[in-house]
Amino acid sequence: MPLITLKAQIHADPQIEAVLKDAMFCATKVYNGLLWHLRKEYQETGKVNISRKNLNRILKELPRAKGYYSMSVQLTRDEVREAYKSFFALKKKGLVQHEAPGFRRKGQLSPLKYVQSGFKVEGDKVALSLGTGREDGIREVTFRISHRPDVKYERVRELSIIYDKVSGRIEARLVVEVKAGENNGTGRAAVDIGETVLMACAFDDGTVVLYSGRHIKAIRRYWQKVRSSLKQNSRRWKEMTHRERRQVEHLLHISTSHLIGECMRRGVKEIAIGDLNGIRESVDYGDRLNQRLHAWPYRKVINMLRYKGALVGIIVRDDISEERTSITCHACGRVMSSNRRHRGLYACSCGWRAQADVNGALNIYERAYKVSPVKGSSGRVARPAVVSYHLGWHGVAEPKHEGKPLCASA
Ligand SMILES: [Zn+2]
Repeated sequence: MPLITLKAQIHADPQIEAVLKDAMFCATKVYNGLLWHLRKEYQETGKVNISRKNLNRILKELPRAKGYYSMSVQLTRDEVREAYKSFFALKKKGLVQHEAPGFRRKGQLSPLKYVQSGFKVEGDKVALSLGTGREDGIREVTFRISHRPDVKYERVRELSIIYDKVSGRIEARLVVEVKAGENNGTGRAAVDIGETVLMACAFDDGTVVLYSGRHIKAIRRYWQKVRSSLKQNSRRWKEMTHRERRQVEHLLHISTSHLIGECMRRGVKEIAIGDLNGIRESVDYGDRLNQRLHAWPYRKVINMLRYKGALVGIIVRDDISEERTSITCHACGRVMSSNRRHRGLYACSCGWRAQADVNGALNIYERAYKVSPVKGSSGRVARPAVVSYHLGWHGVAEPKHEGKPLCASA
């Protein structure tokens, strides 16, 4: 059964919300406590032991570990293990100078994770266990949640309470099992995600559908400009970031829903998406945080396609390596970065000329399914039919210049 992640708002009494925040604060204390003990061990012995056994031993010495559900404490412990593992990996590459992973900020609210046990969701009512050792004696809290109404799920697998830095509210994330819609299609599609062209999707019949990313780029540029005059992480700054996010997400919903609709009309059963490496490589965005901030709309596109696809029985894969797909000629296979000319046109000396994103989507299709939708058995390459959509506030605008030749082939 496909799994999707649902974002949910929490509606709780102020006292309940205060208890939840306290439990999240305990999780931060536990996270930092584990780090502190590991650092101390390292200073004394020159070794770091992140085995579960050693961490469980340390947990017994941390009073705040009794402040929230015991299984959630184990998941905090695993977060520390993960932090150390990625720290070791960076250290190996010489990318970090400091001695250990960093502490979480004092007062930061850490997520409370529930997997399989300790929570109950019935309709919009949620009950959470908080363990048996809290000083205030509270063992369970109940509250209501609300989420997008169009998702009907079978079962909740996981539940997390998280603090959303931008909205400043605590929210819930539910990992739910959905019943896959009836889908008897056999078609396949491949999607290339990018900036100027948000999505380029190649279909079996050689049609490539493009969704312009210009509107989203303009919105992001506008809000970045607004924010540049504000103090980072200030109230105003967060408010602006929140607005940008809402506007961009709105456009992402419009375009991904349209593409899934297009896939349904064409009987698509499977969508392959190129990984996002190309996006990070295209421009130098400086440090890792900047790269993450930059790439969020594109990760969002993948998530949206995944859950919207799951609801109608389309399998979505995003493990197709995008390496060199943008600079490889789809017709002759030559790899030439100089072929990618300005204004997004890909032109090769073999005679193949195509919009660069059309070329990329066809390459991802070929990589995913080991066959090209436009290459004939004689080696002749057909000209793909290109449909280009623009995104407006209220929907996807149909192409204005139908039949305008965006592609040519030898
Ligand atoms: Zn070529």
